[in-house]
Amino acid sequence: MKKTVIVALGGNLFVSDETHQSVPDQYRAAERACAHIVPLLRDPELRLVVTHGNGPQVGFILRRSELAALELHQVPLDACVADTQGALGYQIERALRNELRRHRLARSPAAVVTLVLVDRDDPAFSHPTKPIGAFLSKERAEEHRQKDGWDVVEDAGRGWRRVVASPTPKAILDLEAVRSLLDAGFVVVAAGGGGIAVVEDPSGDIFGASAVVDKDLASSLLARQLGADVLVITTDVEKVCIDYGKPGQKALDAMTVAEAKRYMAEGHFKPGSMLPKVQAIIEFLGGGGKQAIITDPEHIAAALEGSGGTRVTP
Ligand code: ADP
Ligand code: MG
Repeated sequence: MKKTVIVALGGNLFVSDETHQSVPDQYRAAERACAHIVPLLRDPELRLVVTHGNGPQVGFILRRSELAALELHQVPLDACVADTQGALGYQIERALRNELRRHRLARSPAAVVTLVLVDRDDPAFSHPTKPIGAFLSKERAEEHRQKDGWDVVEDAGRGWRRVVASPTPKAILDLEAVRSLLDAGFVVVAAGGGGIAVVEDPSGDIFGASAVVDKDLASSLLARQLGADVLVITTDVEKVCIDYGKPGQKALDAMTVAEAKRYMAEGHFKPGSMLPKVQAIIEFLGGGGKQAIITDPEHIAAALEGSGGTRVTP
């Protein structure tokens, strides 16, 4: 029986700390993650899609633009996402290729530049909330607001930051390409950074949006559109906790969708980090998914066998 599994890699996994941010460091991190994923492919019936985040990497591009502003053009946000899909897609594909060869597995990886349709009337466009890029002085923030049309906010006393819209993903435009590659036996890298957000005008033409899509929600949508069996969201913690960061913190081995919804309502999951992962999984299991896991790359295999990470069941 064929089984389709989506494994999402957190963007933060590629940048373990401030002293390991270089491109070679990011490649080594991709290799470490892929070393835990490729052994799953010993099962010839497994169809695998790897998705990934890009938060830190988009931050680096924006910071470069900021520093180079006197000489070079700014990079629009859709192009930043496309750039990171290409660069991280390359890194992940290279790591997968090398790891597949080491395991003597005759499968090929392929990375797909992925466009994600969002609604131009999505309320997120009138209330941008996602902080992005470097901290700025008030003056610099004001300059960008006037010259570049940025939305800027003061961020908890730490300085000013640009905020962008994070609309809900509506459709993965490259779905059929991903499906065809899976059918042909490829290991597919897709929906990097949540996909490049595009909007449709009344004529049907699409345009890049000045927005970022959450990679957990995009991974969940891709999983549902593919009719995947399993969604694994990997990040830098092994398990989801309740009372996270508080004295009574408790790591969860498993939770049902009903429990996840209750914990969500009680505020246990931080918006922008754990909350979208739990939401993504609730949507996946509500849309026909069979099994969902949140864990770190080290525990993927164990979690799939029922003894690691946080397993979420319908
Ligand atoms: P990624 O790049 O993997 O998406 P995020 O930083 O967005 O990484 O999300 C992972 C982080 O979520 C963890 O490092 C942890 O600090 C944070 N987090 C917030 N709430 C929780 C929780 N309830 N349980 C575990 N981790 C949590
Ligand atoms: Mg995240």
